[in-house]
Amino acid sequence: MSQEQGQRITYEGKAIRVPDYPVIPFIEGDGIGPDIWRATQRVVDAAVEKSYGGRRGIVWKEVLAGEKAFNATGQWLPQETLETLKEYKVGIKGPLTTPVGGGIRSLNVTIRQELDLYACVRPVRYIAGVPSPMRAPEKVDMVIFRENTEDVYAGIEWPSGSPEALKLIQFLNQELKRNISDTAGIGIKPITKEGSERLIRRAIQYAVDHNRRSVTLMHKGNIMKFTEGAFRDWGYELAAREFSQVIVTEDALYKEYDGKMPAGKILLKDRIADITFQQVLLRPSEFDVIACPNLNGDYLSDALAAQVGGVGMAPGSNISDAVAVFEATHGTAPKYANLDKVNPSSLILSAIMMLEHMGWSEAGERIRKGLEATIAAKVVTYDLARQTAGAREVKTSEFATAIIEAL
Ligand code: NAP
Repeated sequence: MSQEQGQRITYEGKAIRVPDYPVIPFIEGDGIGPDIWRATQRVVDAAVEKSYGGRRGIVWKEVLAGEKAFNATGQWLPQETLETLKEYKVGIKGPLTTPVGGGIRSLNVTIRQELDLYACVRPVRYIAGVPSPMRAPEKVDMVIFRENTEDVYAGIEWPSGSPEALKLIQFLNQELKRNISDTAGIGIKPITKEGSERLIRRAIQYAVDHNRRSVTLMHKGNIMKFTEGAFRDWGYELAAREFSQVIVTEDALYKEYDGKMPAGKILLKDRIADITFQQVLLRPSEFDVIACPNLNGDYLSDALAAQVGGVGMAPGSNISDAVAVFEATHGTAPKYANLDKVNPSSLILSAIMMLEHMGWSEAGERIRKGLEATIAAKVVTYDLARQTAGAREVKTSEFATAIIEAL
């Protein structure tokens, strides 16, 4: 099927409309991106073919970002890439390099901000047979909703000694009676009511749609009262206003229900970030859907991924009300680039999320079963092999072939 014969995914109100041959843009990514993308594409195409026998198929359209884009166009993130993702509504991407402490801004963050992909959704679910540091990893089944456009990620910062930093420090010291040293670097942490509400609304709605038991607002509001504390307060207010029929707060649980959750309701609670990191380890079954500001979500995603086999096993999506971009949680792991070595599961699991988002759940479920069967047979890439007795270590491409055989 050629690109010209493919059609666009559209929305009718909030409902997604997916044609039989949708055009889906993809960004291969830097570092290990091409290796894991090739594996993912093969697996998805095989699962779609097997599920729909030629009645449906994806028409892939490559768009450029990162080093490949820079080499071809002189730009790290061409405007055309953003326009294409906007136009076709659903896309998938490999990881992109971001230098630490200078150079270009994060392309991932720019894509999220430019397309206003305000929710980063990361399910963390255990697959049997994956080595885990947890004693009972099967209890880990959480979905993180990370705010994606605000917080310190807004990129509002100036280096120590710069005219902007000095100007701000002077203003803060003189006008607001602070005592900040001239040598400070300055970063700003904006968190808005609208930004918090749309993220928390999405998290609660997800819990309702998927029969989940609880939503936890994770924050550091005891210290950052007017940003993270406000995030929590706005969350409770929103739930009281828009979800009072389904939500029971922890407070009400003990005051009104004697500590017993009424059937069919969802518990809304909040936890401070530091204790959350302890409790997700010690009592993972107490956590279900977790909504949090941007930086907390970043840390929490990798920590939780470790519980289910590491970042090689962690999928994700970045979504707005109109566009969704699916991506692996991990980075470009440059030392493994082009070695055909790393685990493609993270991007493959992201592709399953994409197929579910499109309503092509049969193909998604088929891949999940193929992946589970392959891991259960101990056919795995190096990262899982080094922790699994009796495993057969295979390359990225061989792992994809094993999944396809198990579809
Ligand atoms: P990283 O690329 O995620 O790699 C850290 C380590 O995680 C690797 O050395 C490897 O561990 C393991 N790992 C990552 N992907 C794996 C996979 N598919 N299979 C198996 N193991 C995997 O993190 P980083 O080294 O901190 O970041 C490198 C670059 O990626 C940076 O430029 C960063 O900004 C960027 N980044 C991009 C994204 C994104 O595009 N969404 C996200 C995070 C980071 P071992 O060494 O133990 O084998």
